[in-house]
Amino acid sequence: MKFVDEYRDADIVRAVLEQIQATVSSVEPWVLMEICGGQTHNIIRHGLDQLLPPQLELVHGPGCPVCVTPLELIDQAIAIAGRPGVIFCSFGDMLRVPGSEQDLFRVKAEGGDVRVLYSPLDALGIAQGNPEREVVFFGVGFETTAPANAMAILQAQWLNITNFSVLVSHVRVPPAINALLASPNNRVQAFLAAGHVCAVMGYWEYHPLAEQFNVPIVVTGFEPLDIAQGILAAIEQLESGRAVVENAYRRAVTEAGNRPAQAVIQQVFQPVDRKWRGIGEIPNSGWALRPEFAPFDAALRFETGGLNVHESPLCHAGEVLQGLLRPHRCPAFGAECTPRHPLGALMVSAEGACAAYYNYGRFEQIGE
Ligand code: SF4
Repeated sequence: MKFVDEYRDADIVRAVLEQIQATVSSVEPWVLMEICGGQTHNIIRHGLDQLLPPQLELVHGPGCPVCVTPLELIDQAIAIAGRPGVIFCSFGDMLRVPGSEQDLFRVKAEGGDVRVLYSPLDALGIAQGNPEREVVFFGVGFETTAPANAMAILQAQWLNITNFSVLVSHVRVPPAINALLASPNNRVQAFLAAGHVCAVMGYWEYHPLAEQFNVPIVVTGFEPLDIAQGILAAIEQLESGRAVVENAYRRAVTEAGNRPAQAVIQQVFQPVDRKWRGIGEIPNSGWALRPEFAPFDAALRFETGGLNVHESPLCHAGEVLQGLLRPHRCPAFGAECTPRHPLGALMVSAEGACAAYYNYGRFEQIGE
């Protein structure tokens, strides 16, 4: 397949890995973080981390929207989805994310009308076809899903669809990088930024971070060759003492990004402080609906107060999301917590680091 097979060519990837090996001279390991859970899955799936020199440590970042959606919001979604007359629509990954007591699959099994969709615009069609029902879309995600959710809300307004609302939990990458770097526990010396997020937002927001924290940030794609080239670019910077933003995903990303998509986001959403599951509140790290779109805000439309929120005490997701603990070092990994019986969202999501380690057989071994 054009533009895919070339980026999975083992010989070309091996040549870049050899370049990485030849470039690393440091005795102490350089610590790199890939932000996106999609990149994490491909790194583990293709065993890229095991092919890197020992002076290079890859740690996995918080870039899984399903994983960082706050527990309070999962519980709120479950409470709304269980109401009579509600059609609750969501991307499929969210259905198995554990809330305090249950998940959306349980609500569906008990008779709730919970539907898996691939686009918020499909939820609008359902709302138009069911005017007597309330249709709620669970609008989670990073900057990648925000334009489509914003468009759905604008469409609902234009078409005067009043039985449609969105439970919004959008998060933004740059404030999360800022919080990680400002943490006294930080070990990360360079970042692989998420290519799909930058395809929407560009990378102009990353320059102040690279400058303030003296940290290389390389915009990186998702195929094995993309990831290897992103790592090489980051290592070249670290070895030469540079710290700038570099674009290693030019076939999809420009500095400015997708301006029309950014304009739609700005029209509908405003920045807010957002709580990240397992991590806590990060200033300015989320988007919420602007006041003029309050009629489409499911959190305001449905009163769900009095929820008793509590996380599993066995789950170390916060440490995993900050690159402080490898998934297979969580005491519950593969024991109390498996994809069939997840204790935390990281074991559920297609982008969750714990699920990647479990699905690709990364159980703890001596010396690992
Ligand atoms: S293995 Fe399970 S319990 Fe441990 S951090 Fe991951 S999701 Fe949480």
